[in-house]
Amino acid sequence: MGEMKNKVCIITGGAGSIGLASARLMYEQGARIMLVDLDREELMSAKASFSDQDRVSISVADVSNSEQVLNFVSTTVERWGKLDVVFANAGFSGTCASIADYPEDIFDKVIAVNVRGSFLTCKYGLPEMNDGGSIVITSSIMGVTARPNSIAYITSKHALIGLMRGTAKEAAPRNIRVNVLAPGPVDNAFQLEIEERINNVTGIDATKMLNDWIPLGRHARVEEIAKTAYFLASSQSSFTTGSILMADGGMHI
Ligand code: NAD
Repeated sequence: MGEMKNKVCIITGGAGSIGLASARLMYEQGARIMLVDLDREELMSAKASFSDQDRVSISVADVSNSEQVLNFVSTTVERWGKLDVVFANAGFSGTCASIADYPEDIFDKVIAVNVRGSFLTCKYGLPEMNDGGSIVITSSIMGVTARPNSIAYITSKHALIGLMRGTAKEAAPRNIRVNVLAPGPVDNAFQLEIEERINNVTGIDATKMLNDWIPLGRHARVEEIAKTAYFLASSQSSFTTGSILMADGGMHI
């Protein structure tokens, strides 16, 4: 057991690629983990992959629903006590369309999951945190840059930087740090689906195009993103708050 022994961590999008890979690193260092996601079966199979079942809980919840957010926060606190890490990581990418053609209902859903969901996770998580804890919010390379045909996702991921900064100022007197993790394209299903949509709309090989744009010349491995999340969640980043940590192979340069 390591530096996160008995730390209580909530991870939204916890059955997904980045959430689960990050959960593993925290778990390996002794943390207790609440995985939050939409689908019970996926959560159950994620939980089953941990050897000590007593240190992993699951909660089926839609992060854009305040009652459900309150519920997973209070369930976690009842089980293990106050929170040390809140990782607001659940995300939805929307669709590929120009702003003029972008469907309003999909725009609303992207904002609901990414912005409202992270807001609610911070709103209800922060009062239940121990002093000295850490909030990590997953934005994206699209939180600091932009490209055509992804207006809802870009808008939502930029908004998370405002959410992070405002929350960081409010939480600092309690020595609670709040930071944004901003991954570039990751070699996983979430990103592959985006790239397939771009391929279909533009006829361009989006995977190759992105690798050409990324100075390090490739997508991230999910484990690399998880290590960055772990750094922000743990006391290894004890003097870092209000920051945007790019894990993008230099794509923002
Ligand atoms: P993923 O699809 O594997 O994980 C996202 C998880 O969020 C899924 O398990 C999904 O079920 C869950 N989710 C979606 N809507 C939800 C809701 N309303 N309530 C609760 N859970 C919900 O993808 P990932 O790559 O692990 O993405 C994690 C985060 O990283 C997202 O916020 C995404 O925008 C961000 N991100 C990903 C990439 C990438 O290349 N994959 C790059 C930059 C940022």
